Amino acid sequence: MSTFLGMPAGSSPRASTAPRGVGHLRGDQPFPAAARLALADSQLRRNLAKATTTIRAKRARVVAELPDWEELREAGQAIKARTLAGLDGYLEQLEREVTARGGTVHWARDATEANQIVTELVASSGAKEVVKVKSIVTDEIGLNDALADAGIQAVETDLAELIVQLGHDRPSHILVPAIHKNRAEIRDIFLREMGDVDAGLTDVPAALAEAARLHLRRKFLSARVGISGVNFAVAQTGTLCVVESEGNGRMCLTLPSTLISVMGIEKVIPTWADLGVFLQLLPRSSTGERMNPYTSMWTGVTPGDGPQQIHLVLLDNGRTAALADPAGRPALSCIRCSACLNVCPVYERVGGHAYGSVYPGPIGAILSPMLTGVEDNASLPYASSLCGACYDVCPVKIDIPSILVHMRARHVETARAQSWVPSSEAVTMAAASWVMSSAARFAAAQRTGRVGRLLARHGVIDRLPPPLRGWSRARDAPVPPRETFRQWWRRERGAAEPGRTDDGA
Ligand code: SF4
Repeated sequence: MSTFLGMPAGSSPRASTAPRGVGHLRGDQPFPAAARLALADSQLRRNLAKATTTIRAKRARVVAELPDWEELREAGQAIKARTLAGLDGYLEQLEREVTARGGTVHWARDATEANQIVTELVASSGAKEVVKVKSIVTDEIGLNDALADAGIQAVETDLAELIVQLGHDRPSHILVPAIHKNRAEIRDIFLREMGDVDAGLTDVPAALAEAARLHLRRKFLSARVGISGVNFAVAQTGTLCVVESEGNGRMCLTLPSTLISVMGIEKVIPTWADLGVFLQLLPRSSTGERMNPYTSMWTGVTPGDGPQQIHLVLLDNGRTAALADPAGRPALSCIRCSACLNVCPVYERVGGHAYGSVYPGPIGAILSPMLTGVEDNASLPYASSLCGACYDVCPVKIDIPSILVHMRARHVETARAQSWVPSSEAVTMAAASWVMSSAARFAAAQRTGRVGRLLARHGVIDRLPPPLRGWSRARDAPVPPRETFRQWWRRERGAAEPGRTDDGA
């Protein structure tokens, strides 16, 4: 393999001059517009609040059990930093080890190439239907649509992914893709879309799970090709690892004769010892469990046991460019636990669809613009209050707030480079700087500002005139007081206010 890591896109032998395939990473509409629609959906907000509150409490309970949790986080962060620093070497080692054990490794620069590779592999097997383990990277590249275009049906086997697929919907959470649906809505989807379901199906969770189980069993037993993502790939031995909770993954990974696994290049880790750290961090941070109910690992092909054809597709799709940005690089350490989504006050109110990308929440707000280029997801780095809750819970200590600020700066610089017309924000800031650099001008502005009292409604100003209108769309401004501090001081003390030497007030 020719290494293509650590170089800006376009400079490596493997980088293409064709537009990068972004798959399902780019939103149809900017976050503010999508968020406004989501906020108007009270059912969605109730579903989200209930689910995130439950998962948050579970996570907090099991994390508190470990006295060395902070040390584990430090270890996870250090392993990821070491891996990313030598990513090209670890990937080459992984390729060697997988190949030596009978697997085949494919390299994909972008979504288009990855879809092409997988589609050709499935087509060559003659299968018209594949079973899939829940995999966010295959959502990223839009694999199901690409397979459908080739006449191949991809059947999602994770319960939540199945709900999303049958509902002709999109996932809204990394871990709980159907978090926006309640039980009654799920029952309705099953009754409408599952041909073989009992017409008397109730919305009791066990009944819904049983209906899905019966529906999927036939698919598992007839599938010739399974498709998965990869949670971790151990370079030392070429071992691939998938963790899940329902056992559907184990079926997909063991029953079909061909297994195709798509993996973002950042998922490699150097050794088995490193895997031990992540298998403690991930379940506690994601589902609030001490260990994952199913941890499947496979190392190449074992004659007579499990899939006899194993393919690993290593996907770049913007990761090389992200790696080349030292300030944004830690975002590639993400192990997709979704803890940052569950604590985010923005995510909890708008849900995942508003982000317009398969990576929602705080991690999506940095990862999606990094993978597509910030100009294609420009509104996402602003979808945060910068409260820092995401940083506090992240098991690999990604400083998401700092990266959000970095992405905002990149967006501003890109916009500035593309247009000589200053933005309304730049004009406002320049004007504020001019006013505040003179005591006399500042005092005059305060006096003028009192005119703002005329805009007050119910004790606040909810709509400012241009160029401040955009700022006040989602915020209330306080009503200016009748009297400024300077005036109060002079009235009370009968003298110019402290520190003043001119008569600007
Ligand atoms: S950024 Fe951290 S908390 Fe968020 S999904 Fe990734 S690993 Fe989990």
